[in-house]
Amino acid sequence: MQGSHNWNIKDIKNWNTDQLFTVWDAAIRMEIGLNTITGGQGKNWMDKNLNSITFMIGGVVAGNSYVEGSTVHLLVNFENENLIWSSPNNEVETMIAHELGHVFDNRTRHAQWDVTWFGGGAADELMKMVGGKSTGLLKFLNNSLSLKTNRFLDVDGFGYGNNSSADYFAHAFSATICTPNTPNTPLLAEMWMSALLDLTK
Ligand SMILES: [Zn+2]
Repeated sequence: MQGSHNWNIKDIKNWNTDQLFTVWDAAIRMEIGLNTITGGQGKNWMDKNLNSITFMIGGVVAGNSYVEGSTVHLLVNFENENLIWSSPNNEVETMIAHELGHVFDNRTRHAQWDVTWFGGGAADELMKMVGGKSTGLLKFLNNSLSLKTNRFLDVDGFGYGNNSSADYFAHAFSATICTPNTPNTPLLAEMWMSALLDLTK
């Protein structure tokens, strides 16, 4: 994966081919989606905004993939096709894009703290747009989002976007890029995210 967006696979000898191709597929899917949004600048967008990402298997808390800084921690058997992810269309590629949405959010921070934990990045701006607010001290806490309108529909993994303000942003990021133009994603969130992605190319 080195050379493609400068992504690193930690302990690559422990990865199987399916796992490597799954991450690669997610990258390609994102590049195609971003091409549509940015007028063909998908690769440039990823090189600029999602460079130097590390993917690592394990170190996972509470049975979910998660992000710490620029490191994406994946479940030991994340490539297993029988897993049903709480991500757009329940797909593993959109789960990876969701995690990378957290990285992008982290990188938009103005504060020195990781925004997934403390806020202050793009996710907070999206909350202002859709009229939501985090009820938790920590922005990633489960069920910490107060939002009456502009909610993701609770079908095919989309509903997890209503879990927290950090997940709302990560889901909007993943869905706008990978599963555009579905009624399961709030239109306002998708329009806002498309504009942000185009502006940051
Ligand atoms: Zn998340």
